[in-house]
Amino acid sequence: ENKDILNALQNYEMTFGTSENIFNGGLLTDAERDFVMRDSNAFLFGLIADQSVKAETAWSLPYKLAQRLGHFSMQKIAKESSSEKIGTLLRTKPALHRYPGNMGRYLWSAAERLTSEYDGCAENIWGNVTAMEIVERLEAFSGISHKKASLACLLLWRDLGVEISDKENIDIAYDVHIRRIFLRAGFCEKDTLKDVTEAARRLNPKFPGYLTSPFWALGRNICRPTEPLCGQCPIRPFCARRLDKTENLRA
Ligand code: SF4
Repeated sequence: ENKDILNALQNYEMTFGTSENIFNGGLLTDAERDFVMRDSNAFLFGLIADQSVKAETAWSLPYKLAQRLGHFSMQKIAKESSSEKIGTLLRTKPALHRYPGNMGRYLWSAAERLTSEYDGCAENIWGNVTAMEIVERLEAFSGISHKKASLACLLLWRDLGVEISDKENIDIAYDVHIRRIFLRAGFCEKDTLKDVTEAARRLNPKFPGYLTSPFWALGRNICRPTEPLCGQCPIRPFCARRLDKTENLRA
């Protein structure tokens, strides 16, 4: 049955192509996309910003913040700026994030950690190491959860061409869309990081993180919080359709 679910998801992925891909679709402007793909520190800032806002808001933030700063030097941010100053730049209208205070703290402390531990360059976090080590290093940053660290591994491998040999150690991202589908479909019983992570490992043991992308798109477009489009759902034959399970699910 797992093979059939994977096939259904792969076919579904082909129908949306790259339109739901933050780095290849139309969610970012060319300049915003180039910046997060070219500059590893911008990638890290986009990753940190990717919470409580739409993906396109988060991943466009590094480019817009660099415009407001007038530079994107981690050393300069760490030395000359502060959590408060970054927060103020994020808060300035139009605001770049829903939670500028928290983001200001996370981003400034990321610049400081990058400067003190990684020579000011995030590429040194993921150069020549295993997925397990990348996750561990990323989780040491304020504002990076297991969900974000797992997502980073997937994006680094899939979109930025970073070599990762132990793909079995890249977990699914514990994202609200994904949690909703797993609970509704009956892939897991409880909405916990452990339950969802283990269910994804059972579904695709060789590369659980691969599931992030098709399930995320499915949750955004078909298995929506209200009025899911079950008639169009590629995994309908495998779904327990326990819609009541997620009535009170929070992001
Ligand atoms: S069949 Fe319906 S409830 Fe089940 S995953 Fe698809 S859209 Fe969601």
